[in-house]
Amino acid sequence: MALPSQTQVLIVGAGAAGLMCAAMAGARGRAVVVIDHANKVGKKILMSGGGRCNFTNMEVLPKNYLSDNAHFCKSALARYTQWDFIALVQKHHIPYHEKKLGQLFCDNKAQDILSMLLDECAQAGADIYTLCDIEQVASLPESDLPMRYKVKTSQGTIYCESLVVATGGLSIPTMGATGAGYELAEQFGLPLKPRTAGLVPFTLSPAQLAVFSPCVGNALDVSVSCETASGQVSFSEAMLFTHRGFSGPAMLQISSYWQPGKELEINLLPHLHLFDFLTEQQKVRPKVLLTTMVGELLTKNIAQCLCDYWGAQWNGNRPINQYTHAELQLIAAQFHEWKIMPAGTEGYRTAEVTLGGVDTHHLSSKTMEAKTQPGLFFIGEVVDVTGHLGGFNFQWAWASGAAAAAYV
Ligand SMILES: Cc1cc2nc3c(=O)[nH]c(=O)nc-3n(C[C@H](O)[C@H](O)[C@H](O)COP(=O)(O)OP(=O)(O)OC[C@H]3O[C@@H](n4cnc5c(N)ncnc54)[C@H](O)[C@@H]3O)c2cc1C
Repeated sequence: MALPSQTQVLIVGAGAAGLMCAAMAGARGRAVVVIDHANKVGKKILMSGGGRCNFTNMEVLPKNYLSDNAHFCKSALARYTQWDFIALVQKHHIPYHEKKLGQLFCDNKAQDILSMLLDECAQAGADIYTLCDIEQVASLPESDLPMRYKVKTSQGTIYCESLVVATGGLSIPTMGATGAGYELAEQFGLPLKPRTAGLVPFTLSPAQLAVFSPCVGNALDVSVSCETASGQVSFSEAMLFTHRGFSGPAMLQISSYWQPGKELEINLLPHLHLFDFLTEQQKVRPKVLLTTMVGELLTKNIAQCLCDYWGAQWNGNRPINQYTHAELQLIAAQFHEWKIMPAGTEGYRTAEVTLGGVDTHHLSSKTMEAKTQPGLFFIGEVVDVTGHLGGFNFQWAWASGAAAAAYV
């Protein structure tokens, strides 16, 4: 199928936001063309949620999003809610379940969500062209209205009334991520907020890795926090020791707030008052070794490794009745307030999202249209709105796509 020479709506990027926008704009009766440079559409949907796509969350609140403009996401999220998306999923008879913390996943596979979006696009008459890259975009003079943009692609030139940029972020370049959306924003004078990898595992220095290598593969529930310009942020979930550093939901969440050169503070026993516990144990089980006792609370490997690492502070591993109160306080403080400076993060190679992006102060929160560039819309991850882990990024893709679809 050859690319048409003109359309009312041209959407660049057939990912979550682009496909949602295409289906809804098409359903309004608009002629829609979607182009994507990749060989297949929706690759990130397919790899999401471990292949089961955490497609939304039962409780979506503005506080689940990071942005330089905290209010921007509210309008779109209020007009296309998680319940709207769940209704769509139910209409397509896709089985799903809540895994934890309101996170909704497909029972079967993420392909169900992609097939649903493609079905909706087909029903709405939206045409999708893969292996089609944008090469050049120019805005047209008033005399050419209603056409506003001329887009040169690798499959020919196409004129459109509305141009929707849904090119996503920079994470996982091997899945088709490019900076094309950001370049388009800059071309049309829209500033960008600094971009960094978010929801990404931490790396440790070689010296730190050597110390913690016995813990690799071990996971535990922690509370992790870091300082930000607007105060301390913390998350309570699982962390995982990896060959490169720290991962797991708690670490991915805090990575979106962490600044290089800052420490993380990890409470390894968030559900226990360790000092009280150990003083009680001095009476109940006086001869049991400290590492054995901590090993019952954490894993054996983690307890041994950390007690070896910190042990000099409290004169090594001994039966619990041999520790002074001051030493027990030191031990408790170490496990409850472990301060560690990561070397960095794994970066875009493994990040789930890109923080920052098109400055929302220059977009309409109602329509997603650029305030100074009529007919140019930005939706999804390319915009400076980034969700927490848990289905919030897809909900932003659906909501911002739906918002633009009503006005393109
Ligand atoms: C491993 C992984 C797991 C994830 N799991 C979840 C999850 O379970 N739940 C959740 O909410 N979020 C998850 N996310 C985040 C979520 O996938 C994204 O936030 C979401 O896909 C963003 O949607 P989007 O449409 O803006 O961008 P994308 O879905 O990335 O789509 C952008 C599209 O634009 C195309 N494109 C890029 N450049 C060009 C160009 N120059 N020309 C033409 N086309 C172009 C790309 O090929 C792509 O198809 C995950 C991300 C990753 C990487």
